[in-house]
Amino acid sequence: MSERNTVIENSLTSLLKDESFLPDLKAQTREQAFKSLVALLSTPNHVHKSYLRVALENGTIVRIPAFRVQHNDTLGPYKGGIRFHESVNESEVSNLARLMTLKNSLHELPFGGGKGGVIINPKKYSVKELNLICKKYVQYFNDILGPDKDIPAPDAGTGEREMDWMMAEYKNTHPGEPYRGSFTGKSIINGGSLGRKSATGKGVYFTFRYIMHDFLNEQEKWLQEQDNSFAENALKLKDKKMKVAVQGFGNLGSVAALEAFQCNYLQNEVVAVSDSNVMLYNSDGLDIPALVKFARDHDGDLPKTKEDLSEHKIKADLKERDSLLEINVDVLIMAALENQIHKDNMKKIKAPIIVEGANAPITEEADKYLSDSGTLIIPDILANAGGVIVSYLEWIQGRETQFYKEEQIYELLFERMQNTLDTILPQFFGDPFPLRQNCYIHSVMKLSTILFKQGKLY
Ligand code: NAP
Repeated sequence: MSERNTVIENSLTSLLKDESFLPDLKAQTREQAFKSLVALLSTPNHVHKSYLRVALENGTIVRIPAFRVQHNDTLGPYKGGIRFHESVNESEVSNLARLMTLKNSLHELPFGGGKGGVIINPKKYSVKELNLICKKYVQYFNDILGPDKDIPAPDAGTGEREMDWMMAEYKNTHPGEPYRGSFTGKSIINGGSLGRKSATGKGVYFTFRYIMHDFLNEQEKWLQEQDNSFAENALKLKDKKMKVAVQGFGNLGSVAALEAFQCNYLQNEVVAVSDSNVMLYNSDGLDIPALVKFARDHDGDLPKTKEDLSEHKIKADLKERDSLLEINVDVLIMAALENQIHKDNMKKIKAPIIVEGANAPITEEADKYLSDSGTLIIPDILANAGGVIVSYLEWIQGRETQFYKEEQIYELLFERMQNTLDTILPQFFGDPFPLRQNCYIHSVMKLSTILFKQGKLY
């Protein structure tokens, strides 16, 4: 997980210099207030760590390390997923919690930022053991969780099953109290929202489409007048038949690939997709609906052999997984893991547009190199907020016990993402900062203004 402290510091430095921002803060007081802001945003409010005591089915008792990091609650209750993965560690959870604070602020959600993690490989535990781990997580962090305190959601290694278990345990440990809003990402029957599963993938593709179609068409003349390489490069791709590659074909990647395949606004061809086993390539475009069906019927996997492909009449070449990042495409949608583009492969990336579906798929060093070379990076903070936006809608529905139809959910999702894009894009194409920094500036501006108005900035 790459550090984003430099982006926060750079964003605050540019705000510090802009004296029209918080003009009441002057001279030394201003310098001091901005220094304290850097410290406030670079460090979490609380890091909770527990060792969950779990009895395994074979009779052994183990202690499993678990975290809940509460980064900042200026905008509302802490909100963020719980990850079950062997590589979980305090620094990763803290970085992800901070990203949630900034993401929620950018998208005008009334939440702070939090994140949780349990150091296990969930595939190595039985269903009964996983259920116990979920219950223990809620018991150990009992006092700090709740619909108005800290609201977890699924992340890598967890899903609606785990959220259902955790909400049920929260209900047990808080008798008589409201509980439906204590966890989001639950199953529909347990109070989850329609559309939550597809929300991030749909939001990722919507963000890309809105920039490369709606915004470019509406603002073409204005963009031609801008003197920067991002505007120039984006205009070069306008109306071009775009070749798209998608890394990762799970919940996020498969939905984003299908949206790209079905999109009537842009002429896309999804020429490559990958999962942890393989890359599939077809220069004339892959049959994404057939691949989605295959993955659904094969435990999430893409076809791995020539026999699989011919049996399911899918035309594609099987290639080495990581070569997907280096092929000649217009758009690379990153939908797998962190740190996929780094110093060793950054110079081989050819795509002029990269969309970050996963969190932090590009290291800070590679991010700088690619942005300086004119690559348009549509950052995680902007593109992958669909999940937390629909989590917000689930939280509201849980409080109202009234449910929206799936189409209403997508309408509300796209409306909210469009509002953010309409605020950010004119600033981005009009000035020299990369899109990520523009998003961070907007996000910290909101947080700082609220802190100042609450008398907490000094
Ligand atoms: P997922 O359902 O677990 O899918 C991950 C996909 O990435 C799988 O197809 C996996 O393949 C593939 N993969 C793993 N390592 C790979 C590699 N080295 N090269 C190519 N593919 C690889 O997860 P997801 O929900 O789609 O989320 C993807 C990423 O987005 C995660 O990092 C997650 O934290 C982030 N994210 C997700 C959401 C959300 O709402 N889903 C929201 C925000 C951020 P195998 O199946 O073969 O392992």
